[in-house]
Amino acid sequence: MSEQKGKISINAQDIMPIIKRWLYSDKDIFVRELVSNASDANTKHTRLVQFGTAPAAAEEYKISVEVDPADGTIAFIDNGIGMTAEEVEKYINQVAFSGAQDFVERYKDKDAKDEIIGHFGLGFYSAFMVAEKVTINTLSWQEGAAPVLWESEDGMDFTMSQGTRTARGTTITLKISEDEKEFLSYEKINSILVKYCLFIAAPLFSVNCAVEGEGRERRINETAPLWMKAPKDCTDEEYKSFYHKLFSDFDDPLFYVHLNADYPFNLKGILYFPKYREGAASMEGQVKMFCGQVFVADNISEVIPEFLLLLKGVVDCPDIPLNVSRSFLQNDQYVKQLSAYITRKVADKINSIMKNDREQYEKYWRSISPFVKYCCMKDEKFYDKVKGSLLFEKTDGVMLTLEQLKEQSAQSEDKVYYTTDPKSQSGAVKLFTDKGKPVTVFETVIDINFISFLEHTDGTLKFLRVDAATDALGEEGDNSEINLEHLGKLFVSALGDESVKVTAQKFDDPSVHAVMQSDEQMRRYGDMAKLYGQNFALPQDRTLVLNSASPLVKWLSAADENDEKTKLVCNHIADLATLMTQPLDADRMAQFIARSGKLLADSLS
Ligand code: ADP
Repeated sequence: MSEQKGKISINAQDIMPIIKRWLYSDKDIFVRELVSNASDANTKHTRLVQFGTAPAAAEEYKISVEVDPADGTIAFIDNGIGMTAEEVEKYINQVAFSGAQDFVERYKDKDAKDEIIGHFGLGFYSAFMVAEKVTINTLSWQEGAAPVLWESEDGMDFTMSQGTRTARGTTITLKISEDEKEFLSYEKINSILVKYCLFIAAPLFSVNCAVEGEGRERRINETAPLWMKAPKDCTDEEYKSFYHKLFSDFDDPLFYVHLNADYPFNLKGILYFPKYREGAASMEGQVKMFCGQVFVADNISEVIPEFLLLLKGVVDCPDIPLNVSRSFLQNDQYVKQLSAYITRKVADKINSIMKNDREQYEKYWRSISPFVKYCCMKDEKFYDKVKGSLLFEKTDGVMLTLEQLKEQSAQSEDKVYYTTDPKSQSGAVKLFTDKGKPVTVFETVIDINFISFLEHTDGTLKFLRVDAATDALGEEGDNSEINLEHLGKLFVSALGDESVKVTAQKFDDPSVHAVMQSDEQMRRYGDMAKLYGQNFALPQDRTLVLNSASPLVKWLSAADENDEKTKLVCNHIADLATLMTQPLDADRMAQFIARSGKLLADSLS
């Protein structure tokens, strides 16, 4: 063909500077874009062969990325469909920018770097982010096609002439610009290939042109990732080893959901429920998003419902229009259906384990409950679907369903007594269980919000921590044997704390002298403030509920305020009451130990 010069498209002058500026922070993606074009070219050829349009390929499909530091070039070579001169004209010169045009129009005047999908590339033209010259040397699969050479130095002007390729396919060569020499590092290109192209559909190799013989070529990818297989063909071992490999997590996942839909949308993927680590500060998942086996980015919350990002896994949506802005994805009906589908599948999996293997499910529950609870709060539809699979563990280890919890609480005016720490609150818990009142355990960080959520959605249930429900333990009864007013004065003066309220009740066990009660709502506000790192002091709300049946309380009722012993007994009772539900602070603990020692020694004399 005769040499032809031209301008790429009317908008290229507008677009090239923007591509360079916007994608500045994420230049790596040119590798992904060019490899994924090469992979598409191979796939397209496979289809032509399947339809009988093209003769079968004599050799295996292959993509090579050749890094040549001496030459200052990186070449992307495929043996796919290739392009005729007309196709280069159409796909490279005319329409390649069409996807980009729309958002360039919208964001022209704004510094909207975050608005565009930084991770999603602009296809072939992203090469110009790092190259001072790009050449395409291509030969179409079509019989009699002539090879074409396309060259451009800036992505705006091009020349087209006779190419040199003799075998079907395309070679795209980037002459790397002075400022971007770091991309000529073979290791750097390898790490980018591993990041984005680990599962691309055609065999992918990187070639180090600086090395001859062994070590020159390296295989990058696995062409048949597990998520592309039919679930029936995958073994438990395969799921697990895929998880270990992908997430470098040595623990096995608890279970997984294999997403495999062809209709109404094309969606493949595997979502794993990771083991929840006791004491982990936060749950952190990682969902890798792929588009036709090409990695796009981690944790794209516009496609995968945000709460499901606590899981680990891969989701491959070949049909998602990735060349659009994130705000577009947010409003896209198709994307909404897709995320609804993923949510439903996750809920179905949870329900099916609960239904088919309750014993196993109970073992999983500790690990998955923070996740399930969080999801319930984030998405009411999810809650509606899984509420039958919510479990509530009692202090005796028995797990109740929400239905059972409601039945149980119906016997105590819909009140559910709970503990946030069965160990340090064991004193108070025992008072309840001794009275035949079950106590539920809510000990994860998320429970404080989840309890309020349940109260709100259920409408009848009321949750009270063991230190907020002392009236469930004793009887109002007759306090005529004690002088409550006097006792109040004694405690306020002995503790040196005006804010302590003192009441009395009659408890069954006379060896319990008092319990410390605090208001449920006030305490929750305080806990919540602590959780969110706020440092304001809420008014103290503490009521010392004395046991009118305790001989010690009776003794105190007639004791002299100025007697040393009175002070000692008051302080000791208050400490014991506090210890029923929480540890003492450092000073009080030291005093408590010293006082206990003294009392013990005195008891011998
Ligand atoms: P997209 O891949 O999103 O369509 P690109 O800018 O990456 O946009 O590529 C534009 C078009 O150029 C492709 O759709 C394809 O038709 C053609 N093309 C690019 N690279 C190759 C290649 N290696 N082999 C064959 N055709 C290619």
